[in-house]
Order: sequence, then structure tokens, then C-alpha cells
Amino acid sequence: MIQADFHLHSCFSQDSLAPMEAMIERGLSLGLDTMCFTEHMDFDYVKTTESTPTFSLDTHSYYHHFLELKEQYKGQICLLFGVELGLQPHVLSTCSAYAKQYPFDFIIASSHLANRRDPYYPQYFQGRKEEEGYLDYFHSTLENISSYDDFQVYGHLDYVIRYGPHQNQFFSFKKYEDILEPILKSLIERGKGIELNTSGFKYGLSQPHPQIDILQRYKELGGEILTIGSDGHKPEEIAYHFFAAKEILIQCGFTYYTIFKNQKPEFLPL
Ligand SMILES: [Zn+2]
Ligand SMILES: [Zn+2]
Repeated sequence: MIQADFHLHSCFSQDSLAPMEAMIERGLSLGLDTMCFTEHMDFDYVKTTESTPTFSLDTHSYYHHFLELKEQYKGQICLLFGVELGLQPHVLSTCSAYAKQYPFDFIIASSHLANRRDPYYPQYFQGRKEEEGYLDYFHSTLENISSYDDFQVYGHLDYVIRYGPHQNQFFSFKKYEDILEPILKSLIERGKGIELNTSGFKYGLSQPHPQIDILQRYKELGGEILTIGSDGHKPEEIAYHFFAAKEILIQCGFTYYTIFKNQKPEFLPL
């Protein structure tokens, strides 16, 4: 059983209402031994509608509340302090300075916007083919990876397909190989990893992010660093589909998964 969830949000993230205590209690009841909170911090996030959150993080309050709970739950569960940084090419130096301001155990870099548009909103695909929307997203991801260093894994690598008009129906590693292969190679060469994010199952993809053929290719290319996270925003989403995650990873040839403490990797048997 995978006992570490490395992608978790609480109400310090603007799209979650869950108190951190409720998340931890649920993790304990599931028998987890490690939980890493990775609250959203997106610099210069674009407000598409009036109700769109800014995804700005009050990191000071988050850190202090985290430290209180870490002390409170000492001996029961290992709690880790992380962040999910939303990258965009024009905010990379800001992200870099921010990443050094706090003693993060773990930093996920994610693309939530490509050319200032979030695929979460239908406007992203308006006036263009699904394929163009996907390519735009992956090109922007590669641009981010090529010029940013302060992170350990790239989050939900094929996030864009979650919101495509046909989701993963016409999507495969092979079809997007020309852009996906350089992304994977660039991460591996620079000692960075990816995550298996089980929220893909929640969004009806019947697969994790990234999907299985991408995980397979990552392994074939020599990728070893891989964390596992539910991207849970509610207690009931913690460790979501972790059994399936383990099966998929074994099927892809992985024998270990990765956790991070103080931004240093540790490899645990699956
Ligand atoms: Zn994300
Ligand atoms: Zn997330």
C-alpha cells in the first residue's frame, strides 16, 4: 500500500474549503504515514470571471498553522510542507525568489495557464481545434521547464486533456510525441521528476495524469523520480485510487516511488 500522498490541498488553497485538521484526520484513518500539503500559489493568475480565485497563497499563515499541526500530530503521522507553484514564462524569476523564502520540503511546478489562458475555462478551446489547444499547453510547459529550476516534480503533466472537448479520446503519447518526448527528456536530464496524479480518475479519464503511455515512456527514457498524489481538495479525495496507481506503476516497470523531505528524494518500494 502506498502510504504517502504528495499532492494535497486544504483551505489555504483558494479552491478548497477543507480545514487542514480534517485532511490530516482522514489521512490517519486511511493509515497513511506521510502527507505533503502542496497549496496553490500562482503568480499573476488570470481572472477569467468575477468569481475566479487568484490562487495567491498566504504562505506566512499557512506555514505557521502547518508548524502547529506538525507538532500536534508528532509521532502519529509525518506532515510535510510543500507548495504547488503555477508557472508561466513571465513569472519564473518571481517563482524562483518565492521558492527560496520558505523551507519547503517539496515543490511541484505546474502549468495551469498556457499563453494566459486556463483550459479549465471553455474559452481556452474556443476558435481552435482541440489539438492546437493541447499543443499550446505542452509548448508552454516545455518553455517553463527549460528556464526554471526550483522544483522537484512537474505536476499533472497532461492536465490540459482533462478539459478538452474529447478529453483523452484522441490523445496518445505517440500522437504528441514531438513535444512530449522533449518534455520528458528535459526533466530527466535536469534531475527532475514527474508525479502520478490520480485526479484523472475523478475527471472521467479512466487514467491518472499523465496517462499510462506517457508514464511508460518516462520509464523507458530512464525516468526514476516519481511521486504519487491524489490532488485532493477534500478529505474524501485523499489517496484516491492509490491501489490502481500502484498497479499501473508496476505494469510500467517501476519498482519504487519517491517521497521528498527537505527537497531531497527518498525511494520507497511499491
Ligand atoms: Zn494543479
Ligand atoms: Zn493541485
